[in-house]
Amino acid sequence: GFISFEGIDGSGKSTQARLLAAHLEARGHAVVLTREPGGSPGAEEIRKLVLEGPPDRWSAETEILLFTAARRDHLERTIRPALAAGKLVICDRFADSTRMYQGLRGAGLRRMVDALHDLMIAQEPDLTLLIDMDPAIGLARALARQGGEERFESFGQSMQERMRAGFLDLAHSAPARIRVVDGARAQDRVAADVAAIVMAHLAG
Ligand code: C5P
Repeated sequence: GFISFEGIDGSGKSTQARLLAAHLEARGHAVVLTREPGGSPGAEEIRKLVLEGPPDRWSAETEILLFTAARRDHLERTIRPALAAGKLVICDRFADSTRMYQGLRGAGLRRMVDALHDLMIAQEPDLTLLIDMDPAIGLARALARQGGEERFESFGQSMQERMRAGFLDLAHSAPARIRVVDGARAQDRVAADVAAIVMAHLAG
């Protein structure tokens, strides 16, 4: 009952997570829609520490520790209680985002992400929808949006391209869990694919 959405900035995964939650609720499922970084009061505090400070406030290593701490709190306070109550959990980003966003920032960082994940999280979603998109399209969408978090959107296109390739590699290494959906189409077409994959998963 644990479903995550992943993708680069501007891929539309948050919209798709919302549409899926509405689709499943309309079919009588009890759904908890949540997000990372954040998703519990403590993890939302950590989100602010990471996203609202100056870009060089934390080293890459410290940022991995903060994201892992946020995920641990989110698991303890939100995700596990919801799953134990028989609810469906839909999470906008989970550990795959840290594998890419933090893990690709320097040599050795992916190993640190994986080691901390094994030690402190040790849980994967049952199903992950990777909303795949050309970063040129995703970046234009992300920059067009209002609001904060410019620091991350300033990662720029080449980093988004590396992350897209990294996400696709992850999907190839975990084909039973991660399903790739072409996000460069109309929102309702993408949503229809997502719904079909999830309904098949829940039926199986
Ligand atoms: O998915 P969402 O837009 O809420 O993510 C907020 C910001 O945090 C994004 O700009 C994303 O690039 C960044 N992020 C990150 N590392 C993560 C997850 C998100 O840098 N592990």
